[in-house]
Amino acid sequence: MRKNIVAGNWKMNKTLQEGLELAKSLDQALAGKKLNCDVVICTPFIHLASVCQSVNTEVVGVGAENCADHTSGAYTGEISAPMVASTGAKYVILGHSERRAYYGETNEMLKTKTTLALASNLTPIFCIGEVLEERENGTFFEVVKTQLSEALFGFSAEEFAKIVIAYEPVWAIGTGKTASADQAQEIHAFIRKTIEENYGKEIADNTSILYGGSCNGSNAKELFANPDVDGGLIGGASLEVDKFMPIIEAF
Ligand code: PEP
Repeated sequence: MRKNIVAGNWKMNKTLQEGLELAKSLDQALAGKKLNCDVVICTPFIHLASVCQSVNTEVVGVGAENCADHTSGAYTGEISAPMVASTGAKYVILGHSERRAYYGETNEMLKTKTTLALASNLTPIFCIGEVLEERENGTFFEVVKTQLSEALFGFSAEEFAKIVIAYEPVWAIGTGKTASADQAQEIHAFIRKTIEENYGKEIADNTSILYGGSCNGSNAKELFANPDVDGGLIGGASLEVDKFMPIIEAF
């Protein structure tokens, strides 16, 4: 059966020293606790190797926030999936709305990145979600379906089964505006149905679908209580252990 996952996305926050302190504090806070979810932190590239060496990665999974759409070569400034994997990281966020909006990442490019991530045995945490206008004009179902089909539905069932989906309504990211529990359940159920139409019930039932967008210690319990919400991708509230722990413990 699918896993519950709470994953932090640090974005472009924390120096290396601050990041190590945060990762170690989280590791300590989780040590010996019986949890009902897997915990992951996705950090800036430069933190990955040190963070992997400083935490028990069986307790705190570690991931990158992006990877390149090439494996190696003359791509100055880029970091490839094999490089991410070589640090000990096991996850990679792909298709975050900030990457799509500010760095022009397309579904086609994200398909390539996903291929390369899977080839390096990384678990992609693949983000989809609509902007406010698409929520308001009711096209959001189509929007997420297109994101899924253009980027992911070309993969075999075996490959798709290794991917975690994160539904993140763009209007809720970093805004303090959260989707209501009913809105989250409605679209998560739709995403699962769309996966079922392409890969069958078993794969759909086994796919973890996380919610992201201003999730915090006060709203996590209600959001995670939904049958099709299998955890969260957490930005701001993952930057302090005291704010992240109540979300982890909401399961
Ligand atoms: C995110 O960046 O993936 C996110 C959900 O951010 P926040 O929790 O800050 O809204």
